[in-house]
Amino acid sequence: AAEKAPAPASGGTRRVLLFPLPFQGHLNPMLQLADVLHARGFHITVFHAAFNAPDPVAGYRFVPVGAGVPAADLVPTGSDGDFAGALLRINERLQGAFQDCLREEVLLEEEEEEGARPACLVLDSNLRGMQVVAGRLGVPTLVLRTGGAACLAAYMAFPALCDKGLLPPKDHSQLNMPLDDLPPLRLQDMIFSTTTPHETMTTCLERIVESAKCSSGVILNTFTDLEDVDIQKIIDGVGVPVYAIGPLYKISSGAQSSLLSPDKTCLDWLDKQEAESVLFVSLGSLASMGQEELVETAWGLANSRLPFLWVIRPDAVQGSGKVGLPDGFEEETRGRGMVVNWAPQQDVLGHQAVGGFWTHNGWNSTLESICEGVPMICRPHFADQMINARYVEQVWKVGFELEGKLERGNIERGIIKLFRGEEGGEMRRRANDLKDKATLCIKKGGSSQTMVDLLINRIMSSPS
Ligand code: UDP
Repeated sequence: AAEKAPAPASGGTRRVLLFPLPFQGHLNPMLQLADVLHARGFHITVFHAAFNAPDPVAGYRFVPVGAGVPAADLVPTGSDGDFAGALLRINERLQGAFQDCLREEVLLEEEEEEGARPACLVLDSNLRGMQVVAGRLGVPTLVLRTGGAACLAAYMAFPALCDKGLLPPKDHSQLNMPLDDLPPLRLQDMIFSTTTPHETMTTCLERIVESAKCSSGVILNTFTDLEDVDIQKIIDGVGVPVYAIGPLYKISSGAQSSLLSPDKTCLDWLDKQEAESVLFVSLGSLASMGQEELVETAWGLANSRLPFLWVIRPDAVQGSGKVGLPDGFEEETRGRGMVVNWAPQQDVLGHQAVGGFWTHNGWNSTLESICEGVPMICRPHFADQMINARYVEQVWKVGFELEGKLERGNIERGIIKLFRGEEGGEMRRRANDLKDKATLCIKKGGSSQTMVDLLINRIMSSPS
C-alpha cells in the first residue's frame, strides 16, 4: 500500500505465466487479466487443466496440464457440490504433471529469450499445490483471487471461528448467529457446503490463505469503492502487496473463453423488450436445481407476468439429465419469455431491457450485476455465494435473498417486489450509483487503473 502510483507501465518482452482453475467463473477473470497484461506488452503462457480446456486465444501459448488424469471427481456437481474436496484433488492430481510443464516452459523461455526467465506465474488462489512447485523451480508467484474481498477476509477469519468453538456448528439453532467480527455475516454463511467435511473445508481454506501469504502479491477482482473495509483487512492480514484491479471484465478488452457457446439470439429478443422490464435468470456454470424446483421456478416466472430470459444449462437439472419444463409453460409465456442454454451474460446484464437478475451470486455474476447497475434476487447455493448474497442484501442493498423453499408463490412475490415495489426501486437507484463508481475506478487515475500500473511495475521488477 506504501507504493507510489507510477506512470503507465509496459511489460517489454517479458513473459508472464498464468494458471487458472478449470471452471468458468475462474477462467474468465484469469483470461481477462491475461488480456490486460498482453495489452501492456507481456508475452502470455496459459497453463490449464487438460479437462475443461479453454478455447485458445490467438497470440498466447496454451499448455495443457495432466492429459489423461481422471477428472470425473474433479468437477463438483449438484446444488451443494463438494467444491473444497474437488479443489484439493485437483492440486494433488495435477501437481506432478505441472512440475514437468513448468520446467519445460522455463527452459523454452530461456532458450527463446537468451537467458531471460519468465517474470512470474499468476496462479488461481486455489492452486497452492502449484505454487509449491513454482517455489521449487524459483519462479515467483502472484495470486489471483477470483472471489470478492469479503470472501477472502472471511476465509482468513475461519480458523479463529474454529478456535472459538463456533465451527463446525454444534446444532441447527446456532446457524442464525451473527458473527461480531464479520458483520453482516452469520454462522450459516460460513458453511460453504453441507456435503464437505469440516476437516476438508479447514484444509482448503488454509491453503487459499497460505497461497496469498506465500505470494509476491495478491490480485483482487474487486474495486476500492465497493469493498474498502475488506480490502484493508486483507492488506493487514497477508503481508504482501494487494492489487484491487476489478472489475476485470471492464478493464480488459473483453477476451472470453466460454466453456459453453452463448446463444446470442437472446440479444435480438432483448432489443424488442421495454427498458428495465426483463428479469434475467441464471445459476452460473456449476449450480443446479431439482426437477421440482425447476417446475416451481417456471410457474413463479409465468405467474409474475413479467418478461424473463432464463438460462437453463443442459446439466442444470439434477437427476434425469433432461430438462423437463412443465406442460403449458411455453404457451403461457410465449412472446414474453425466452429460455437459452447459455447466454452472453455480460452483454445481457448491460442491455437496457434488463431490469433485474435472479442470480446464484457467484462472484463474477454479482460483480457484473453491480457494474451494470442491475438489482438482484439472490438465491445462493454453495461456497462463497452465501457471503456475496449477504453483502448484496445488507451492505450494498442492491438486492435481497429469496429465502425458504423454492415455491411459485414466493418466487412471484419476489419478482414483483423487485420490479414493482418501492424497495425494488431504491435497490435499482443504489445499483446505478455503484455502476457509476465502477465506471470511474477503471478510468485514468481511478483506483483500479492505478493499481494495474502498480501491478505491472511489480511484475517488471522481478529479476530476469
Ligand atoms: N456466464 C455466462 N453465461 C451464462 C451464465 C454465466 O457467460 O449463461 C458467465 C458469467 O458472466 C460469469 C461466469 O459465467 O462471468 C460465472 O461465474 P460466477 O462466478 O458468477 O459463477 P460460477 O459459475 O463460478 O458459479
